[in-house]
Amino acid sequence: MITKHLSDFDIQQWVLDKTNCDENIIEHIHECEHCKTKAEAYQLLFSEIKEQPKPAFDFNLSEIILPQISPAQPAFQRNGLMKLIIASFAIAAIGIASYLYKIQFNIFYKKYILDITSSISKGVMYLLLTSAFTLLIFQSIALYKKYQRKIDDLNFY
Ligand SMILES: [Zn+2]
Repeated sequence: MITKHLSDFDIQQWVLDKTNCDENIIEHIHECEHCKTKAEAYQLLFSEIKEQPKPAFDFNLSEIILPQISPAQPAFQRNGLMKLIIASFAIAAIGIASYLYKIQFNIFYKKYILDITSSISKGVMYLLLTSAFTLLIFQSIALYKKYQRKIDDLNFY
């Protein structure tokens, strides 16, 4: 028999798990009106806590977070403008190259009419133009990749 009133901890234990409770605590609660009232109050409190809906965000978290994780738009749409710019550069380069070639060819033609040199120069010119054009393409690709990396970095943050 406990002469002192039960501690809050003991009462809570009794409310939560009566079967594993100390004999003295069970006995005290049955005999003591004060502790019984306290226990009933705890019982009510615990049952209300259980009935509380689980905490939830009142907004759709995934709806807000997901667009920031995945790309905002498909890659091909995002890169469309850059491809257009590169294509324009390439077309302009071909135009300029063929114009320059025409001038050069006319000079050569006038200098060495029907000379074998003109055909060799023509071949050299083709080679140079092809090299220059190839170089331009590779540089455009490198530039494009650099741009893409920067865009990806920006999208990530
Ligand atoms: Zn008591």
